Amino acid sequence: MKYPKKETVIMVPYPAQGHVTPMLKLASVMVTRGFRPVVVLPEFIHRRISTTSHQNEILFMCIPDGLEEGAPRDFGAIEMAMENNMPCHLERVIRKLDEEEDGGVACLVVDLLASWAINVANQCGIQVAGFWPAMLATYRLIEAIPYMLQKGIISETGTPQHQGPICFEPEKPTLSTEDLPWLIGTLAMRNLRFMFWTRTLDRSRSLPWLIINTFPGEDCHVNLTSGCQNSPQVYEVGPLSSHATSKDTTSFWEEDMSCLDWLDSQDDGSVVYISFGSWVSPIGEGKVRSLALALEASGRPFIWVLGHTWREGLPVGYLERVGKQGKVVSWAPQLEVLQHEAVGCYLTHCGWNSTLEAIQCKKRLLCYPVAGDQFVNCYYIANVWQVGVRICWFGEKDVEQGIKRVMEDEEMNQRLEKLNERILGKEARLRVVDNLSAFIGGLQSMRTDSPNEDNQGPNV
Ligand code: UDP
Repeated sequence: MKYPKKETVIMVPYPAQGHVTPMLKLASVMVTRGFRPVVVLPEFIHRRISTTSHQNEILFMCIPDGLEEGAPRDFGAIEMAMENNMPCHLERVIRKLDEEEDGGVACLVVDLLASWAINVANQCGIQVAGFWPAMLATYRLIEAIPYMLQKGIISETGTPQHQGPICFEPEKPTLSTEDLPWLIGTLAMRNLRFMFWTRTLDRSRSLPWLIINTFPGEDCHVNLTSGCQNSPQVYEVGPLSSHATSKDTTSFWEEDMSCLDWLDSQDDGSVVYISFGSWVSPIGEGKVRSLALALEASGRPFIWVLGHTWREGLPVGYLERVGKQGKVVSWAPQLEVLQHEAVGCYLTHCGWNSTLEAIQCKKRLLCYPVAGDQFVNCYYIANVWQVGVRICWFGEKDVEQGIKRVMEDEEMNQRLEKLNERILGKEARLRVVDNLSAFIGGLQSMRTDSPNEDNQGPNV
């Protein structure tokens, strides 16, 4: 019996946990649609996940990033590697896969934060779709850069020209000027990040499609698309953490599974789970110390994901003192922790994956956004959906009052239920299926050079 040959979809995530995870989930969705996904990763990430992933139908390919072994892979270094070192290696991979006997390369799916790969796809004459692992609202915010320049909200280098809220729609102050996603670190880093975003925007304008890890019908309050030319067609296919069939973990670090036994011994709804994600720049020793003391003073049980370098901020003897009350781990099985009945609320940096996971598990949020898109996500959590509250300080009173407000607000539970249904209910799922089919249909109809007659294409 002769099986139809599968077309390859080459997937290029940005090399960070919060980007690789949703891209791999999208890859597993593409498997169910009859494609053969090939995920291209730089060596330092490939090494971490290829050993833990059992997704046989997803092929991983590793390319060098050209950086010295052991050199830091921070934003600037990765950016340099992506722009200068990785393109020629990706080109080699594309040409090799496209020549293979199988169904050829149907398209590249490129995380917009890895927009360098769009140029490579264009050079190879391969179709390319963008992937945005975050909210539609944050993509629209990047699209609004020309508007913000034109209105004098920001300077040519992205520096805010005044302090205060920005309204993209009347009466809807989505975020404050100091919360713009590129305002991280020193002035030089801010400028570099702003250039990164303007280049990302320029490249993404040439894309026909943009697949987004958000739920259909997200209430986007940053809507200036009528003024934007060449905006890609958007397909909302999230949350991928729930729609993907594969439950494989794609963690870069080993998960401390003892969290789950520990949770079993706690009362329902009593535990505060704390994590600031994988990529957040350290909140600083002073804040770690304040939060540690505030958690201890609250008397509530907690699980705190805190990497070893951050622990230097803990008061002397802290871990021994709170031994029974709290558990401090380097990396948790987050989704399982959030699913656990003992967890009452989640003190979060408002990363988009974490936000979706919390809504999926119906957990209330205590928000402490730190950087990037987290301020926009927080605006939605606290103001639009009202399934969490924001705290701005880690003083004992701030933390205790924040926890009380989220834990004791019964209406918040109802809002969470509603939001969960809206995001994961039958209607949302059907719309995701339709959106995926529409994307694949568009891809097929633009694919003129069918590789051979045996290729019956994927199941749409
Ligand atoms: N995560 C995890 N264990 C941890 C902390 C985080 O598995 O101890 C996962 C979490 O479930 C989420 C991802 O890491 O899927 C973090 O992504 P997010 O977008 O929330 O934040 P980022 O790390 O990109 O800032």
